[in-house]
Amino acid sequence: MNEYLMAKKNGREIPLQDKIFGINERAKKMSEEVGSENVVNASVGALLDEKKKLVVLDSVTSVLNSAQGEDYAPYAPIGGTDEYKEAIKKVIFDDIEVKAHVGVVATPGGTGAIRNVISNYTEREDEIITTDWYWATYKSIAEEQNRKIKTFEMLDEEGCFNIADFENKLNENLEQKNSALIILNTPAHNPTGYSIKYDEWQNIVKKITNKAEKGKQIILFVDMAYIDFAGDKKEVREFLKLFNDLNENILVVLGYSASKTFTFYGMRTGAMVCMSKNKDIAEEFNRVCQYSARSSWSNCNRLGMWALSKIVEDERLSKKVDEEREYYREILKERGEVFDAEAKKIGLKTVPFNAGFFASIPCENPDEICGKLEKEGIFLVPLKKGIRVSVASVSKEICKELPAKIMGALKS
Ligand code: PLP
Repeated sequence: MNEYLMAKKNGREIPLQDKIFGINERAKKMSEEVGSENVVNASVGALLDEKKKLVVLDSVTSVLNSAQGEDYAPYAPIGGTDEYKEAIKKVIFDDIEVKAHVGVVATPGGTGAIRNVISNYTEREDEIITTDWYWATYKSIAEEQNRKIKTFEMLDEEGCFNIADFENKLNENLEQKNSALIILNTPAHNPTGYSIKYDEWQNIVKKITNKAEKGKQIILFVDMAYIDFAGDKKEVREFLKLFNDLNENILVVLGYSASKTFTFYGMRTGAMVCMSKNKDIAEEFNRVCQYSARSSWSNCNRLGMWALSKIVEDERLSKKVDEEREYYREILKERGEVFDAEAKKIGLKTVPFNAGFFASIPCENPDEICGKLEKEGIFLVPLKKGIRVSVASVSKEICKELPAKIMGALKS
């Protein structure tokens, strides 16, 4: 492990195999041996239907099938096509009136946005603040660029956003530096399904405004990868209103992913969108993030940008995509609720779940527990603080059965 023949380590811990990829491989192998009906693979971060088939929205497929060569063959502008940038503002803000200055740069999925916000708004060796339950890729993106992740406890004893620990960790960072990058993944957080509530957002804004008024620069990155599976379109966007009139020392950057919203995972389509009171800061955002794009992936997938723009420009089509997605969102919601209710019924502790692809169970020895479950044909993802269950990738019936199986493994 971690021995290099010619490659340079550069401070990174590179495992021999990606953890989730490894779990998937083992699940696939067991399916071939004992039959897929005897295997539960709740490790996948993609939405599958009740028959374990990847959900791909028909309305999106029909748009892709209508593309002509000129729609996808030319290079796209580095920051994204103009139509795409307009479409992105529409999908993110919907009908929210935006008063802040906005910058938009296309990225390959939400992942590209995370990469660019780190490269442009932190320095080498900096610590980036995020929740203690977090998408493990944040760490690898940070380490790839010689940065580190510093966590605060996401939830307090009442299961609410832990504003005190958030502030503690922010204070620690700001004692040493003049600026801080905070990453919050909400709504429908990966891996727990937690969504920051409106009043919790108000508190967060209050805290960072306080720092900004003292001359500190705060970059707040909101990873909204799962927003369109989090609930009512308008309700889940309400918190964005709070970013309209912030102190100009605060830069909000929204990380948008079309992967889940448009069932577009392989199209690598996403964007980073900034909101600032200061026009020059928004313009600088466009300039520096385009520079980073050019020097890492160059330009993004033109077909993905084209298809998303086509859908958003056409009201009828947009409605069709929304309706189709809503059907699956309901299924996903039911699965999450069934899992949560069953867990409560049998006394299995979970992290407060609101919506989305995943739920988590806090526990000691997650690797050991997941190892035991794998022997029974149940594949979950062990994390540092517990176990992640992808309700997106298993049927409602399985969601009802899983809590008891997990409880059994915890007790044995
Ligand atoms: N953020 C979180 C929390 C995710 O789970 C993912 C994907 O799994 C992403 C961002 C980015 O996804 P993509 O790069 O496919 O758009």
